[in-house]
Amino acid sequence: MKKPACWTVFLCLLYASISWTTQAETRPRNVILMIGDGMGLAQVTMARLSKGTSTALRMDAMKVAALVFTHSANSLITDSAAAGTALASGFKANNGMISVLPDGKVVETFLEAAQKRRKSVGLVTTTTITHATPASFGAHVSSRAGEADIAPQYLEKKIDVLLGGGRAFFLPKSAGGSKREDSRDLLQEARAAGYAVVDTREGMTAVRQGKLLGLFQMSYLTTEAPEPSLAEMTGKALELLSPDKDGFFLMVEGGQIDSRCHAQDAAGAIKQTLDFDVAIGKALEFARKDGRTLVIVTADHETGGLTLIAPEAGSKEKIRPNWGTKDHSGINVPLLADGPGAVQFQGVMDNTEIPRKLAVLWRLAGFAAR
Ligand SMILES: [Zn+2]
Repeated sequence: MKKPACWTVFLCLLYASISWTTQAETRPRNVILMIGDGMGLAQVTMARLSKGTSTALRMDAMKVAALVFTHSANSLITDSAAAGTALASGFKANNGMISVLPDGKVVETFLEAAQKRRKSVGLVTTTTITHATPASFGAHVSSRAGEADIAPQYLEKKIDVLLGGGRAFFLPKSAGGSKREDSRDLLQEARAAGYAVVDTREGMTAVRQGKLLGLFQMSYLTTEAPEPSLAEMTGKALELLSPDKDGFFLMVEGGQIDSRCHAQDAAGAIKQTLDFDVAIGKALEFARKDGRTLVIVTADHETGGLTLIAPEAGSKEKIRPNWGTKDHSGINVPLLADGPGAVQFQGVMDNTEIPRKLAVLWRLAGFAAR
């Protein structure tokens, strides 16, 4: 009789360990959401072809793919504010609104929900840190133009890592180049609240722990040296956020694919997409070592109505970019996912489903309740 009992215990332990492992594999501790602003499939294809016909991008290695609807509450053609709100809160807003609904209701963002779970949080972008996409995660304003009102909200929320441009919105109006209309010195307020405040790549590199506010330009980043690259900012954010035993949420925006496509600048769009891809590589490298991190790459919308057509006779180009508009288009955008829980993100979905699915993975009861 002793042997069967022994085997029963063994089988129970085996079952428990398998189910624990499965659970660990399907529920990420950390989430990295990477948003290519304006990045449609043509932008990705154009960037890939710029490296040679047989070259893969880092994002091409991601295991799961989906298509995402991007329309806003009041338009088939969304802007970054309404799309950011959908990606951050799980609700449709009107164009221009930052995590506030058309009826004025303020909605909880995934970043805020992560903080409730005691997770560390970060926002990284190549535009102003107060621009529509990061703002949708860390602030609530009825108009995206209120960047001066968005900046102090980040500090009130104690967002752990903030890296990008837009220093002008943190300086008092007496300072040259300030875009504030009051005398608040948010850089000083951040220091007083325990942040390391830096404005150079070297300054950023030297910070090894704690909260970090790095603003490397008054407005958008140049995305050229001596600034830190998007990948370097992503790496620093991961270094500072990952020691949190409760996990972290990090949003990284490739923010200038959009502006280059508004300008119908194919070379610029390629550069911005490739920079974003290197940052994606950084996130994937971290996630594969860590094993508990879900990485999602998507876009808020496509910009430029870009198609890729045959080059002119005699041209050395592989393909010719053909712009359909100087504005955003209404086409679906791609989504790529990798890591525990990635399988939840396959198929065709609305952009509001993305944070809702993340909330299910993190068991955030009540998030985006209608
Ligand atoms: Zn745009």
